[in-house]
Parts: sequence; C-alpha cells; structure tokens
Amino acid sequence: MSEREEDRQPAALGQQLSAELSTGLGDREDLFRVLFDLSPIGIALLDLEGRILKANQSFAEMLAYSPDELVGKSFREVTHEEDLARNQALFQELSSGKRGCFRLEKRYTRKDGTIAWGTLTASLVRSTSGEPRLAVINMVEDITERREAEIALEESRADYQRLIEMSPDPIAVHQGGEVVYVNPAAVRTLRAPGPEAIVGKPVLDFVHPDFREVAQSRVKQVLGDGETILPLIEEKFIRADGTAVDVEVASGSLTYQGRPAAQVIFRDITERKRAEEAIAEQSRALQERNEAIEAEIARRTDELRRSESKFRAVFESAAVGIVLAATTGEITEFNHAISQMLGYDEEEFERLGVKGVTHPDDFPEDMAQMRRLLAGEQESYSLEKRYRRKDGSWMWGRLTVSLIRDEAGEPELALGVVVDVTERKEREEALEEQMARMTEIDRLKTDFVSTVSHELRTPLTSIMGYTEFLEDQVAGELTDEQRAFVDQIREGGVRLRRLVDDLLDFARLEAGTLKLQKQPTDLVARLRETAHSLEPQIRASGLTLALALPEAPLVLPLDGHRFDQVMLNLLGNAIKFTPAGGTISVTACRSDGQVRVEVADTGIGIAEANMERLFERFYQVETGLTRERGGAGLGLAISKAIVEAHGGAIGAESTPGRGSTFWFTLPVGP
Ligand code: ADP
Repeated sequence: MSEREEDRQPAALGQQLSAELSTGLGDREDLFRVLFDLSPIGIALLDLEGRILKANQSFAEMLAYSPDELVGKSFREVTHEEDLARNQALFQELSSGKRGCFRLEKRYTRKDGTIAWGTLTASLVRSTSGEPRLAVINMVEDITERREAEIALEESRADYQRLIEMSPDPIAVHQGGEVVYVNPAAVRTLRAPGPEAIVGKPVLDFVHPDFREVAQSRVKQVLGDGETILPLIEEKFIRADGTAVDVEVASGSLTYQGRPAAQVIFRDITERKRAEEAIAEQSRALQERNEAIEAEIARRTDELRRSESKFRAVFESAAVGIVLAATTGEITEFNHAISQMLGYDEEEFERLGVKGVTHPDDFPEDMAQMRRLLAGEQESYSLEKRYRRKDGSWMWGRLTVSLIRDEAGEPELALGVVVDVTERKEREEALEEQMARMTEIDRLKTDFVSTVSHELRTPLTSIMGYTEFLEDQVAGELTDEQRAFVDQIREGGVRLRRLVDDLLDFARLEAGTLKLQKQPTDLVARLRETAHSLEPQIRASGLTLALALPEAPLVLPLDGHRFDQVMLNLLGNAIKFTPAGGTISVTACRSDGQVRVEVADTGIGIAEANMERLFERFYQVETGLTRERGGAGLGLAISKAIVEAHGGAIGAESTPGRGSTFWFTLPVGP
C-alpha cells in the first residue's frame, strides 16, 4: 500500500470546492452538481463522524451500491478491515484539523463482499472561519484492476523466484558485467561457500580464459535488442575454488529489477564429458579393432585366394585322377588326369555319374562303402574297381574316398582320388594264373615223386635182400674181390634207400599226411644212442665226437623214430661238411620251459647269403662237397617239419670256414 500525501492537485480542487460551497455562489451551484454527479472519479461527502452525506454515481458504482443506499453509512462500513486502522487514523488527523488532506491506497468492501481497490484523496471542508466543521470530501479512484494485476505479477514473481531457487540447474543473473544473483544450485556447482562469494563479482571471473571471448560475445547478443535466448553451448567455468569445470550453458535476456540483465543457466557436464570421452575412447579402440580384423580378413582372403589357386594348380596338374562328386553320385568336378585316364569330357562325366563309369560288378561294393562313410563308420575307404573307358575298355583304378564337410560338419562332397593300377592288376592276374599253373605242376611232381618212390622201394628191397644173401654166402663162398663188390652194392643200396625214404617223407609232408606217434620218451637217452650209433662213421671220417648232455633223464612226448631222423640228419650233415681233424659236439640244455639241442661242427660253414633258404626243400648250397657227398636237399626241410610238428623251432648259425651250429628246441611239459 502506498500513500502520497504530498500530492497537491486533488487537495487544491477540494479547497476550491469547499470555498464554493461556503460562499454559496447561487449560479455556480448547478455546475458543481453536474461536476459532482458526472465525475468519473468517485466522490463522497462525509460528516466529521465519517458518515456519508452524499455519494456520486462513480463512487456508488465502484462499491456496487446505489448512491442513496450509501447515504448514512460510515466509511468504516465500506472499508476492508485490514486497511481500516490506517484509514481511521488518517481520518482522525484530518477531522481534527491536524492535516488538510491525505492520500491512501486502500481496499473497499463492496456490497457483495468483494474487494475494490481505490486511491483515496481526502480533504477537509472548512467553514469560512477556517474551522473544520462541515464535512470531509472523499475522492476515490477505482484502481482495482491495476492492483489485481500488480498482485498477480507479484505472486508470479514470487513463484518464479521460488522456482529458480529450487531449480536443480545452476542459474545466475548478471547485469553490467557483474553477477547479481545466483541460485543455490549455482552456489553448489561453483563450489562457493555462499551466494555472497559470487554476487558482486565480475561475471568473466567465472569463465575459463579459453572461453572468455565467446562468453563476451554472447553477453553482447543477449543484451542487444529484444528478447534473446541463445542455444546451449559447451564452455569451461572457473569455480570459486579456482578449479575448472566443464559446463553446458544457455543464456537469455531478462529484466531484473527493472533493468536489462542476462540470465545464465548452466550444468556441470564433467560426468557426461567423461562418459563421452570413455565412449570416444571405446569407439576408437573398436575402430582400431575393426581395422585390424578387416586387415586380417583381407590377409586371409588373399592367402586363401593364393592357396586356392595353388590347390587348383595341384588339382589340375596332379598325376592322379581327382573327382569331386555329390554324395548322391553326381560328378561335380574332375581334373585333367582322370579325363585323360577315361577319355570323357565334362558333359559326359556329368551325364554318366559315378555309376555310369563303374563296372556293374564293382558298383555295389563302392556304394556299400560310401554308405558306411556317410554313416560315420569309417573316415575314408579305398577299393580297387574297374572304370569303363570311353572306348569301352576297362581300367583298374585304386580309388580312395574321403568326405568334404560343410561348416556345420555335414557331408557335402565326396573326394575321390583314382590311381590307374591296370598294369599292376594285369601283372597280378598273370602271376596268379602262373602260380595256379605252377601249383598244379608241383602237385603232379609230388604225386610223381610219391609214385616213383613207392615203385623204387620194391626192387630196392629185393636188391638189399639178395645182397644180404650174397654177404651171408647163402649161394656159396665169395672171393675177396666178390665180397668187395657186394659191399659196394650194399653201400649204394643203403644210400638209395635213404634217398627213397626222404622222398617218401617229402611227398607225405607235401600231402600233409606226415603223422607223428608221440610217446613219453627220454630225450637224453635217445640223443646218446643216436650219437653213439654214428660214432664209427665219425671216427672213420677222422673226427671227434663231444657230448655235453644232462645227467638226469628228460622225458618228453616224442615220436622217437622221427626224432632220430632229425638227429641223424643234423649229425650226418655235420660229418659230411667237416674236414678230418674237426670236432662234432652235441649239447642239450633245459631252460624256460623248453629244451634246446645243438649240433655244432668245425666244418666249412655256410655263407650268410644262403642261411635264409637253408630249410627250404631241395635247397643245396652250391659246393663241390654237396655234389660229392650226395643228398637231395630235403633233410633240413623234413627236420624242420618234424620239429615244428612237435611244437618246437629250428635254426642255424654259421661262420664260413669256421663251422656251423644247428639247433632246435622242443617244449618241455611242466
Ligand atoms: P642234403 O641232403 O643235401 O644235405 P640238407 O637239407 O640236409 O640236404 O642240407 C641242405 C644243404 O645245407 C646242404 O646241401 C649243405 O649245402 C648245407 N648244409 C647243411 N648242413 C651243413 C653243415 N653242417 N655245414 C655246412 N653246410 C651244411
């Protein structure tokens, strides 16, 4: 509420009026009445008690009464209770003559109870003698609308102020280069102990030197003509504690306490900046990684291209045929070698497929193997099969198939590698044929040997029988010369019989009819006997016999007759191939569940090259001695068969010129 008592203009009018009324100038009375009634300013005439004597239309309208209704009412009745005391006091001063007039902005209470604002100018109407006695004149200007607008403005300013105070965003106002206001958020963000540490300071003190120029030009824009709001920009502020802070700033023009000012709204974006930098850093790293990956891909693609072209070159120039076929049998790719082998071109390969180029007899096996391959039962397979050449002839190929799988591991293609083995196959076939022929001849030979041996036996028996008769002089006494002839015949007969026996054994061996008749036999005794039986012959050859046999008997299941045959053979050979003066030794020793018998001599020995074939039938080392001493090359082969039939093994060691050792082992029962 404002009051301006010094305003003299309405007071002058009042004085003039009072003068007119008191002098009672008849011809002017009408003029005053019209003035009173028509005045747009509310006028009321009150007595000294404050009761209304007369009110004009404007006054009545302002208070929503009719002029007559107001007559007799005290000013107190139409005054708002809050303004009453002040009004009362001023009225008192006026009516008592202490002051001539007063002015008061006050609230009236209308007839309907609502409020009307008015600027009241009150003057005292004096008597001609100057005593304040007659009345008070009230002139009231209705300012309700203005006041209400002012109040609304005041309220909204207060609201705005509150808003700004509460704003989480820092807000500052500066005027003429100086900060005039900061909200609590700004105080916090600028790390000031309180607003007083900021307000009154040059606004540029809070802007980082790097941004002062920008800030200044923005201030100029904001304070230029009209209302301006500048868009957000990023700046750096200097806080009250001297540290720098990244901020985002919006500024706009503002009227602050009646004068143009700039309002700055800013926000600490340190966190955001940091996040942005982290993101930038991350995206830089990502970019780098992407580039590295791209480079790697390029490198690998290049490598792949090169290896692919290398592979293609190998594929094309390979000497072996290479075929790629779908698992269903369609040929998708093949190399030069295979098309040369078979003579087909691309179109023909595609049309024929695997089945079309395969011999009908070989196709089922190929398919069966492929099925096993696809079922994962085998990693790959190989088979030899016949391919039909374009000219209708057959090619034997050795095919090896493996699977090429796709990325998911599913079989995609079958890779077949084909080698032409026709020549080898043909050779093999020829050989097989030859073998069959030879086996047949061999069998015929064995049959022949068997028959001849049997046929020889009968006359030989009679030769030997009659020789004995002659020796026994059954047919008369023999001369010395005749006796010598008979001896010769007998010796020849014995050798012949041995040969025939060997041949018969051999024939039995070949036919698989060499049967053993095993009986528990003392091996030691048997060895001693055979050795002693040959002693005369050994001695006659100028050789020494050395026996190293266990004391105790060693009983084994043996075919005695066959066992003797082995010993006689080995000892016979030793005698045959050892020059006079040499030694023949027979040893037997038991170890590890078997007995090992050795017949060693100090004879001519056997060259290394011949050792391997020694036990083959009919094999004889080419020496004069062999020819001279006879034999059919069957003894060792028969011995081997007999030893093996007993479950043992036979072998020989020899040093040419120094002698040989023949050994055999036999299993000893527990
Ligand atoms: P043969 O009845 O011809 O002796 P064998 O099968 O008994 O046939 O022997 C085969 C060949 O092994 C003999 O011809 C001989 O060349 C060689 N041989 C066998 N035993 C001896 C030995 N103790 N010393 C040297 N050579 C031997």
